[in-house]
Amino acid sequence: MTVEEVLSSNLYTQQIKKLYRVGEILGLQDDQLEALATPERVIQVKIQVPSSNGKIKTFTGWRSQHNSALGPYKGGVRYHPNVTQDEVIALSMIMTWKNSLLQLPYGGGKAGIRVDPKSLSRTELEILSRNFIDALHKYIGSDLDIPAPDVNTDSQIMAWFLDEYIKVSGKVDLGAFTGKPVELGGISVREYSTGLGVAHITKLAAEKFLDGIEGKRVIIQGFGNLGSFTAKFLSEMGAKIVGVSDSKGGVIDYNGLDFNKLMEVKKTTGSVINYPEGKKVTNDELLISECDILIPGALENVINKFNAPKVKAKLIVEGANGPLTADADEIMKQRGIPVVPDILANSGGVVGSYVEWANNKMGEIIEEEEAKKLILNRMEKAFSEMYSKYNKLGDQDLRTSAMVVAVERVVNAMKARGLI
Ligand code: GLU
Repeated sequence: MTVEEVLSSNLYTQQIKKLYRVGEILGLQDDQLEALATPERVIQVKIQVPSSNGKIKTFTGWRSQHNSALGPYKGGVRYHPNVTQDEVIALSMIMTWKNSLLQLPYGGGKAGIRVDPKSLSRTELEILSRNFIDALHKYIGSDLDIPAPDVNTDSQIMAWFLDEYIKVSGKVDLGAFTGKPVELGGISVREYSTGLGVAHITKLAAEKFLDGIEGKRVIIQGFGNLGSFTAKFLSEMGAKIVGVSDSKGGVIDYNGLDFNKLMEVKKTTGSVINYPEGKKVTNDELLISECDILIPGALENVINKFNAPKVKAKLIVEGANGPLTADADEIMKQRGIPVVPDILANSGGVVGSYVEWANNKMGEIIEEEEAKKLILNRMEKAFSEMYSKYNKLGDQDLRTSAMVVAVERVVNAMKARGLI
């Protein structure tokens, strides 16, 4: 196992620690915390893909359905070579809190396939995606469990999922997946709603904790869907993007990085490290470089007890799910560096999904501008709820404050059902 794998297989432990901290504040007993932590169902499937050389490739995938007290399970599907079952369970738990905080009518779910999608041809990727749904279709549906994109998955994969789902289940249930192409009931906002939301929440947080977003030096780790759109919207808001990275490494330029040039370089060369100006850095160096706002927007556990004391940012916004460990939370709290938690910061994705799902259910009546307003309003409301809880609790960080709001709603729903 690599160090990264050890850390990521630990994500569940990290999430349990975060939950127990909230449990103390809400006065929850151990049996209640156990009921909250335990996923309702975890499905493991074997997925086989015949390849062009006559060999059959075998992969393992999971769907964790963590909690359905507030509604059908909702959360993305990631394709990543290091995904583990524990990690998928942890991510599904994060979805339960996120959906609750945003007052969406959903519980939490997440799926992962342990695969490096870059090692597959397009045909193999399609077969992998279709076979995954063949194995899972009984557990999916717009009123049961609604998957969506996550790390390394996109609208094309959702289109294959939906098509396969309709074939095997016989149900033309467009709302069974979100993040679909517009032609299949998707909404255009969903493509950029995660980045739009991260940028908007960063602006709100910068107004509370710094003196506004204008001119602030921002570093973003990750330049996929989330990182690139976050950079775009923050640049438009007047922030200065000074550092970005992808899996190959990063680039820093305190004169500011040009968004359009970054996109061009990423598109033509495959990585932002080929940006012509600035200084090349590793991902580890990027995280501890000088800036006002740091947005870890790639994978989990990247800020941990080893590098947390060296982070120079004055504000951290969690673009990814779980980028700070529980130890890193403690260190940031002691250092007085506010951390806007994942369950709020990156919720634009799932709120966008909610609008798409509602649109599918209602017969496509929500237009782009209305959808955008709905997403931002919902996120602003959750920000205010988190912030007033933060003021009320006095000695807790933003994550704990947001989680107290979210966990309490789930607990109340479970109590009403007699489950806790
Ligand atoms: N994968 C995204 C997340 O972690 C979006 C999930 C969704 O749209 O259901 O929030």
